[in-house]
Amino acid sequence: MTVAAVIVAGGSGLRAGGERPKQYQLIGGRPVIWWTCRAFLAHPGVNVVQPVIGEGHEQMFAEAVDGLGLPLPVIGGSTRQDSCRIGIEAVARHKPSKVLIHDAARPFVSDALIDNVIGWLDRFPAAIPGMPVAETLKFAPGGMVSRTVDRASIWTAQTPQGFSYDGILAAYRKAEAEQTQGLTDDASVAEHAGIAISMLMGELENRKLTTADDIVMADRDMTGRQLQDRPDVRVGQGIDVHPFDDGDAVILCGIAIPYSQRLKGHSDADVAMHALTDAILGTIGEGDIGTHFPPSDPQWKGAASRIFLARAVELLEAKRGIIANADITILAEAPKVSPHVAAMRAFLAPLLRVDPSRIAIKATTMEKLGAIGRKEGIMAYATVTVRLP
Ligand code: MG
Repeated sequence: MTVAAVIVAGGSGLRAGGERPKQYQLIGGRPVIWWTCRAFLAHPGVNVVQPVIGEGHEQMFAEAVDGLGLPLPVIGGSTRQDSCRIGIEAVARHKPSKVLIHDAARPFVSDALIDNVIGWLDRFPAAIPGMPVAETLKFAPGGMVSRTVDRASIWTAQTPQGFSYDGILAAYRKAEAEQTQGLTDDASVAEHAGIAISMLMGELENRKLTTADDIVMADRDMTGRQLQDRPDVRVGQGIDVHPFDDGDAVILCGIAIPYSQRLKGHSDADVAMHALTDAILGTIGEGDIGTHFPPSDPQWKGAASRIFLARAVELLEAKRGIIANADITILAEAPKVSPHVAAMRAFLAPLLRVDPSRIAIKATTMEKLGAIGRKEGIMAYATVTVRLP
């Protein structure tokens, strides 16, 4: 028996503010959609995870879910209804018996809820989670109360909504053929086709992120969850130095700063990122950059140092570790670093999977003392705190 999950992420979601749609904004150091897709990928009862994304979101999506091993997304339509139909059609080749359809903007979906929905589909052709309405409901057209609505039997609907695959596919095709539009969730499409739908208890935590406030609170929540089950606090340090050579820019924390010289090294010689990488490796006793990327290996010649950093983060994550903060000090007589600090923090944040507020980058001169003071090179120190289970 194959169970497919269709993750609907087609919306432009700009109600939440910000530069990118809400499903691509960061909570707990990762895009919302990363958490949502991961929940289904990691669930043993789900065999296929098919994302449906908005047109023009291809690049953003690829970056957001990098490393998860998801299949290629399909491009949704102009309405949620269209997007869902396209997603459901896209999994046909896997011949699923059950399909779960889930909003990308609900990253807090639990294993237990996914289990429940799959289980209920043994007894019903459709099962959707929801919450009984606890507050009193008023019918108030034009802002004036005309009556109180009986809230008994009133539920709000959540996702994942589960269906027997053939039933929901036929229901969507029927709605499409009849050009019935404006069905706002999958259950409405099933209702329209006369499919019996069972309601099961959802979870308060499984709320849909809609507004900017939702994103802020979700970030706090997701970060808190991450920290909570990782009591093992460790500190790592890293130090690096590279001499100057003829050139026109130095690269520090991934940012090229125009200068009359460059830093000499086997890779791009990003001295600050090297110190940071060693600090992370230090927290898990995994040697240093040279252990993983020997300078004798020609494939790392001129390499972007973000590759080294990404590898250190990957090793940390393999131990289920997360970064709590990073503090970097760059010792340089020149060039001037401070105008580039904001760009450096923004560059490092997604690589470390933390908010930029958890990254400090400071710069100091050596007051003309010693080799660094004589402008012979640049030195960097990094301290990193990580949390492990
Ligand atoms: Mg180095």
